[in-house]
Amino acid sequence: MPEGDTIHLAANRIRAVLAGRVPQEILTPQPRHSMDGWPQALAGRAVRSVDAHGKHLFVRFERDLTLHSHLRMTGSWGVHRSGERWRRAPRRAWIVLRCGEWEVVEFDGPVLELMSEQRTRSHPQLAALGQDVLGEAFDTGLFLRRLRADDQSRPVGDALLNQQTLAGIGHLWKAETCFAAGVDPWRALGDVGDDEALALLAFAREHMRRCVRDGHTARPREVYGRAGRPCPRCAATIRRRGQGENNRATFWCAGCQR
Ligand SMILES: [Zn+2]
Repeated sequence: MPEGDTIHLAANRIRAVLAGRVPQEILTPQPRHSMDGWPQALAGRAVRSVDAHGKHLFVRFERDLTLHSHLRMTGSWGVHRSGERWRRAPRRAWIVLRCGEWEVVEFDGPVLELMSEQRTRSHPQLAALGQDVLGEAFDTGLFLRRLRADDQSRPVGDALLNQQTLAGIGHLWKAETCFAAGVDPWRALGDVGDDEALALLAFAREHMRRCVRDGHTARPREVYGRAGRPCPRCAATIRRRGQGENNRATFWCAGCQR
């Protein structure tokens, strides 16, 4: 599932092959973008930088054009050597950037848009984003102020998914972070102390940064996707129930998460 660590990993791989270079070919096979003229608009422009903020990825071209993507549940970025078989069918590619011996491909959208640099700052969803959980610099005071500005009756697990409080956490990291801190994801946010909130943040930052360095195999899998199995800490049965507006499954141990 694409969460902040996935997007930063993708940004690092894309940056390594595109930054400072002019793609020799750009294709937009997806019918939704076939008439947008992106290949013409981007022709001859070098990629200035590639970066991520939370689950958003930006490929910034020179002369003020930026490609913004959000993968939601379905999308994926791939970096392949020319001629290498892609991990998804070619018809699922939304954009292909060919550069030297590399092909950078975005599959299955669902959010892909070309915008000016100014628009990346004024875009309502992007402007409202909280600090990146993976950010080099991090203001814990600002994080706590945003957390307390949220509905305090909301379950803390659900609050961790609010991208305006903290950008980058998805369902896996929510479940694993609450487990690691011994916090029940159903506890009301107002009943979670600042010290506990900072412990949740510290775990997510440390372990997500490790995954960006070492890859997805470094992801903790103590409770996520393990409903019905024994808790690795107290041996009680791991539970699963839909939480939040999308009713997506959360996983927790009622034995040791309070
Ligand atoms: Zn337990």
